[in-house]
Amino acid sequence: MSRRRFVAGVAGLAGAAASGVMARVARAAAPSDYDYIIVGAGTAGLPAAIFASARGARVLLLDAAGDIGGTLHLSTGQMSAAGTRLQASLGIVDTPQLHYDDVMRISRNTADPILTRIAVDEAAKTFDWLMERGFAPLPEHPVLGKGHEPYSRKRYYWGAEGGRSILAVLRREFERERAAGRIDLRLQTPVSALLTDSAGAVRGVRVKSADREQVFSARHVLLTCGGYGSNAEMFERLSGYRAYAATGYPYSQGAGIELAVAVGGYVRGRQNYLSNFGSILTDDAIPGRFLARFVVIPQERQPWEVFVNARGERFIREDEPSVDAREHSLLAQPDLRYWIVFDEAILSSAPPGVGGWTREQMRETFGVHKWFQQADDLATLARNSGIDPDGLQRTVADFNRGVARGKDALGRTYLPKPIVKPPFYAIRHQGHSTTATVGIAVDDRLRVIRQDGMPIPNLYAAGELLGAGQTQGRSFVGGMMVTPALSFGRILGERLPLAART
Ligand SMILES: Cc1cc2nc3c(=O)[nH]c(=O)nc-3n(C[C@H](O)[C@H](O)[C@H](O)COP(=O)(O)OP(=O)(O)OC[C@H]3O[C@@H](n4cnc5c(N)ncnc54)[C@H](O)[C@@H]3O)c2cc1C
Repeated sequence: MSRRRFVAGVAGLAGAAASGVMARVARAAAPSDYDYIIVGAGTAGLPAAIFASARGARVLLLDAAGDIGGTLHLSTGQMSAAGTRLQASLGIVDTPQLHYDDVMRISRNTADPILTRIAVDEAAKTFDWLMERGFAPLPEHPVLGKGHEPYSRKRYYWGAEGGRSILAVLRREFERERAAGRIDLRLQTPVSALLTDSAGAVRGVRVKSADREQVFSARHVLLTCGGYGSNAEMFERLSGYRAYAATGYPYSQGAGIELAVAVGGYVRGRQNYLSNFGSILTDDAIPGRFLARFVVIPQERQPWEVFVNARGERFIREDEPSVDAREHSLLAQPDLRYWIVFDEAILSSAPPGVGGWTREQMRETFGVHKWFQQADDLATLARNSGIDPDGLQRTVADFNRGVARGKDALGRTYLPKPIVKPPFYAIRHQGHSTTATVGIAVDDRLRVIRQDGMPIPNLYAAGELLGAGQTQGRSFVGGMMVTPALSFGRILGERLPLAART
């Protein structure tokens, strides 16, 4: 295709008047400039670039940020993979089928069967490759996990530096491929539109860097530009819940959703929204910042306190062993909010509840941080905290009767003390989710599809852009975002056809 035809072909350019766009174009590359344009140099984009370059592809890798790595800079980096060489060396018998069954059991069959199948089938190859290249999981790994619903086999691994342990390996491999001269990396270069021809096929991208715009073309365009966890407006619009806390990568602005929708893609997965079981944030701002978290996992610390919602009602037995059950119970509470309520006897005798804090730190925070309230009676405590006073008094009285009888109304078995001795305390918790539940629909070859199921030619997507719920459903399943992002990126780098070289 000649440059003139290419320029004419981008008349279908999404979201802009083509003539205006072309007037601002500094340089239009010929369509065969690159085999791959990869939008986003993060968890999915880096393996895509590495594996594509390794088989001789010419790659343009674009990122809005000033460094590669994306969410791996922040992520806990927990991966899950079944049938790995590490498992075999430890005598752990595991298969992708068992992994698949666990994901479906934990998610109650809400994960997407096609994408989940690919993710579990490809996970061991990805993990073994990382290990070969120097990734070191913690010495006791793999484990079953306890921060999310445990797996049935030990297949859960992460490194000492979380996501950065993975990034260190990817960065090394990436720099090696880059030195071979096939990867053109451009940082601080956000993609602002996809270029399509008159038939609707994606031919390239438009980027904005410093003060100029450029267009580039390629045979394949991969969207690996992450989720929308840091875009509060999009978060609320797509998930139906407010973005209560800003804990995501700042560049997770949902660009991929806008890019793909503008050329005919569509979003799915709203029904999968799930919140974690809450954090203490620094203040009332929305989105807020993470401050601390009470240890609510009974396997780590048994509960002495009660959890109440804004009506002052308990909504789950506090020693509920299932993480997933706790998370789902919070979804039904107003504003995904609850308070942990206790008294002086509990504060002075229970192990300190706020993770990593001493009892003295907790005491010093009451009356200083708005979410830590203290009062000599329950009604005042409730009013100052934002809880219904009658509801709280009723609930605590009921709870205390249960403690006296040794039989709790919600079935809780750990009942060390009633809540009777002033002062009384309440610590507010806010449920939130870091990741983007909703994502762009793709088929079993990771091609972005239209509502009618037809792929948009040349356009692919991987990573959180597909929606967190695709490989975990309406649940949090250990490692089922990082590992699929890495694997899907790798697959796209390995498998898309390259132009014949002359
Ligand atoms: C705190 C935290 C902890 C987590 N822990 C885990 C965990 O333990 N296990 C797990 O499985 N999952 C975890 N996750 C989720 C997981 O880390 C992410 O889903 C995954 O890393 C996202 O990978 P990605 O490639 O889709 O996006 P990213 O890794 O974020 O990469 C996207 C890249 O695209 C770039 N970009 C954005 N817009 C543009 C644009 N317009 N043009 C060009 N580039 C652009 C960004 O700068 C970024 O570099 C966690 C997430 C967070 C935030």
